[in-house]
Amino acid sequence: MLGEIIAKGSDNQRSRAMQTLSLSEQARGQRRALTDISHMLTAMSASAEKTRTIYDAREGTTLPGTLVRKEGDPPVADPAANEAYDGCGFTYDLYKNFFGRNSLDGNGMHIDSTVHYQKGYDNAFWDGKQMVYGDGDEDLPEAQRLFNRFTISVDIIGHELTHGITQYEANLAYFAQSGALNESMSDVFGSLVKQYQRGQSAAEADWIIGEGLFTSNVKGVGIRSMKAPGTAYDDPVIGKDPQPGHMKDYVSTTQDNGGVHINSGIPNHAFYVAALEIGGNAWEKAGQVWYIALRDNLKGTSDFQDAANQTFLIAGQKFGVGSLEQKAVAKGWAEVGITAVSVPVTPPVTNGGSGCLTAVFRGLGLLRNG
Ligand SMILES: [Zn+2]
Repeated sequence: MLGEIIAKGSDNQRSRAMQTLSLSEQARGQRRALTDISHMLTAMSASAEKTRTIYDAREGTTLPGTLVRKEGDPPVADPAANEAYDGCGFTYDLYKNFFGRNSLDGNGMHIDSTVHYQKGYDNAFWDGKQMVYGDGDEDLPEAQRLFNRFTISVDIIGHELTHGITQYEANLAYFAQSGALNESMSDVFGSLVKQYQRGQSAAEADWIIGEGLFTSNVKGVGIRSMKAPGTAYDDPVIGKDPQPGHMKDYVSTTQDNGGVHINSGIPNHAFYVAALEIGGNAWEKAGQVWYIALRDNLKGTSDFQDAANQTFLIAGQKFGVGSLEQKAVAKGWAEVGITAVSVPVTPPVTNGGSGCLTAVFRGLGLLRNG
């Protein structure tokens, strides 16, 4: 998407996209070191209850910035600070109330967020230690704006925070299929955070990721669709949503870390079909199965077939072999061209397993499909 903007956008839009690309690269390089020390920091800043702290970078790059709102404080005047605070809260509550997980590391880790990062920064990311949000194009003249501020979509907040959880659990290597699974897990739980916030069942939800992120200048409803991958946007400047929803359309590319934001459409759609088939609130059953897979069964090198087999196994263990739920999981994967088969539980591998590949590709951005 950024590549399209660089090729087809106005001067302002082009320089904005190039700036975002280069900053994302820098952030990715910093992540490994941050991840290593985050374990240390966590031990010093854990608690039994959610502890959110919001900072303001005041359009600079120094993190975390100036404290603007801490846990229990009333709303402040800045909507971005309040959206970051509330989005973190819904994400924490979903994981705590339904999956029994206390914060990102499972051990009460404090969640810090910085808003107003850089001027005109078109992204949001988890840097291995904290959340960082840009203001999109809110500084440009309205006619030139493509992105609103990145705190505007609660599923984007859930998406990025889930990258933090993946880092502590399956640690899916951020490349090719394992990387697309990493992205898909973030979309799945990001969407569940939105559905939980809105009290929507699987049938009521729109399954759009990043609704509200585009301004009215862009022909699109969001950045991805789990219901119909490839249909979220089609715009002269941004380009067309490149996501496939079936293995026959799998995109082999060296761009975007081997298509992590592209082929995530395939496992995304499998989850959507399974959740719809089961019915009710998607976080209660389908979400449960995917969460257990992320926590216990998947590892750094897992691919789509592993995810299909393990979610099928977990659904059988939790709801019964041959149950409606297990059949729904099989149907979800079948609809994207993958046959789930019964396999024994794969023992979890800590630290991701694949050494420098895992470390190098543990990048966590949102729109980096070059
Ligand atoms: Zn992501």
